[in-house]
Amino acid sequence: MPELPEVETYRRYFNRHALRKTIRAVNITDSKNFPGMAASDIERRLMGGQFVATARRGKYLIAYLEASTSQIADPFLGRRSKFGVGRDPVGKPEIESLELHAWELDHEPNDLVESKACIAIHFGMNGYLCFTKSDRRVPAHSRTAFLFQDGSLLHYINPRRFGGIWWVAELEKFDRVKNLGPDALSGINSSRLLQRILGRSGQAIKQGLMNQKLLAGIGNLYADEILFQSSIHPCRRPASLKPEEWDKVFDKMKSILRQAVQLGSKMERYPATFLLPHRWGDRKCPRCRAALRTLSQGQRTAYYCPFCQRRRRRPFHNDDNVV
Ligand SMILES: [Zn+2]
Repeated sequence: MPELPEVETYRRYFNRHALRKTIRAVNITDSKNFPGMAASDIERRLMGGQFVATARRGKYLIAYLEASTSQIADPFLGRRSKFGVGRDPVGKPEIESLELHAWELDHEPNDLVESKACIAIHFGMNGYLCFTKSDRRVPAHSRTAFLFQDGSLLHYINPRRFGGIWWVAELEKFDRVKNLGPDALSGINSSRLLQRILGRSGQAIKQGLMNQKLLAGIGNLYADEILFQSSIHPCRRPASLKPEEWDKVFDKMKSILRQAVQLGSKMERYPATFLLPHRWGDRKCPRCRAALRTLSQGQRTAYYCPFCQRRRRRPFHNDDNVV
């Protein structure tokens, strides 16, 4: 499931390909993509407008919209084929991959945006974005495509149909409805704050890290990575963590998320000292080479090292499995 680094990568991809381009048409092939709103209504609201800035709320990509007066004068409107365009104005079809360069982290851009209207995109289990220069080739599982004035398109790919796109009139209201906690990368500035947020949870530390209502952006994979690098067993109770352990979780959370974003969230680029590449590789701890173990927690599988992440006082969890 795309987590904070992946969504941040998609946000930058969105910025490269979709900002300040007039939306000529919106092709919605799956009406369930827009929960609570008819496809025709979404089209009417978006056509003729432009995405002017983006932000991220945990695992949600936010794209701000500025209505445009060019809609009436747009000569292409009304000449619609499957993507609302009569012919390909660009030429060679090309689907650009999600290959991304090393990115520098930048700041959330949106204090200056006047318009509050936006869309919020959630990528579900395995969704992503795909930019194409024309409509000659439509990527598989494209559920919604934004067609721009220059003939290029941004596809929302969502093979398993989880997630979706929400029309958001006011972001504050959206935050309240989704009940999201502070963003794990940009919304937490001290280990004390992290402790205050997760410490009051009765859940195990890993489940607390993954609870979007407490802390937005972290899922199963990065929670495992943060706890591995912090040498903390996933079943530890937050109340049992010492101040120095909270410091470590905070530092590792920040550094892992930042590094993952800088590496374009491509796992094959992650350092060999990370747990993540070994999860699908040799299944050995990169630090002590012991066989990794798994356990079930809240219907998710945790990977951990039984020697580097000891569970204090009690022996290993009953569900532990050597993998
Ligand atoms: Zn180990």
